[in-house]
Amino acid sequence: PEGLQVCVVGAGSWGTTIAKIVGSNVMNSKTFDNEVKLWVFEEIVDGRKLSDIINEEHENKKYLPGYKLMPNVVAIPDLMKAVDNADILVFILPPEFIQKICSEIVGHLKPGAFGISLIKGIPESPGTLRLTSQIIQEMLGIEISVMMGANIANEVADEKFCEATIGCTNKTHGKIFKELFETLNFRITVVEDNEAVELCGALKNIVALGAGFTDGLGHGDNTKAAVIRLGLMEMIKFSKIFCKRPVHLRTFLESSGIADLITTCYGGRSRKVAEAFAQTGKSIEELEKEILKGQKLQGLPTVKELYKILKKKNMDEEFPLFVCIYQICCEGKSVNDFICCLQTHPGHE
Ligand code: NAD
Ligand code: 13P
Repeated sequence: PEGLQVCVVGAGSWGTTIAKIVGSNVMNSKTFDNEVKLWVFEEIVDGRKLSDIINEEHENKKYLPGYKLMPNVVAIPDLMKAVDNADILVFILPPEFIQKICSEIVGHLKPGAFGISLIKGIPESPGTLRLTSQIIQEMLGIEISVMMGANIANEVADEKFCEATIGCTNKTHGKIFKELFETLNFRITVVEDNEAVELCGALKNIVALGAGFTDGLGHGDNTKAAVIRLGLMEMIKFSKIFCKRPVHLRTFLESSGIADLITTCYGGRSRKVAEAFAQTGKSIEELEKEILKGQKLQGLPTVKELYKILKKKNMDEEFPLFVCIYQICCEGKSVNDFICCLQTHPGHE
């Protein structure tokens, strides 16, 4: 039988890193076809099309400069052409684009196709929680798993050791995804608690903003550890209330839980931008453009969505850390008040 065809949908820093791993893993594999398609949102970089740069130089000069992809990774700017023959779709985009992408490809997928979302964030909705994977599943009518973890793209591309967590209720798919993504330096655990895995990947971005505030205000590692701890408590509480199925505490001990929270609060982009916000007083949006140069910040859109959801349920008072971060980012509350939020947090009662 022919191997399964894989399409990676999205070529930002994480999408390109995953394409690098997958390109190498499918070589000589009996399970997978040896060519990997990489859908690239076309843009002009130094006067050339990004897809041409990737295909000619095997390097994504804009989002992951300095790392070579295997030549079997083929960049395709035409979304239909990229997905039409795929058995496995790997979604790696900022969440704000997922609905548009799904509306374009619905009806064009191969029968039996299935997917996995590596997207960390909560897409815009009218105030009820809809996870990215649920949106993809509903719009495309295909089964979707998730993979999250402590995975800062450059470090993974550098092949420095790390772990990740697949959240998947379909055992066959879980095995296939593990084979597709795992390497000696990218070790994967598969768990069934897919909703909690995905929520952790989204909510840790909010906590990272808080960690960045304390860095910017000149507080030390103890303060940041407190932000991480109180943030984790609110992540667990939120997941217990909002997941449809029961969540297991052990899921928060996986790479997608505590490990991703730590790495993001030390080395992530939301932390970096929030630190500059506390130091300069410029807006987060302005700093995102200035510092990330086209990469996207997840913390701000995620906290905006979360606040809408909490408000609608009248639960904002039960999540003081998340809400204080929202008010600082979006309602002009002084960043200096963040320490007061930590001092008075009900986590000490
Ligand atoms: P990125 O922030 O590096 O790049 C932005 C991406 O958005 C690019 O792929 C760009 O082509 C795309 N884009 C811009 N405008 C678009 C449009 N109109 N339509 C479609 N796409 C458009 O991207 P990333 O870091 O790969 O992030 C994707 C997801 O992966 C996010 O949810 C992120 O949280 C998650 N993630 C990122 C990392 C990381 O270290 N970068 C690690 C793990 C997970
Ligand atoms: P940032 O988006 O904050 O850089 O976090 C990347 C990440 O998800 C690390 O696991």
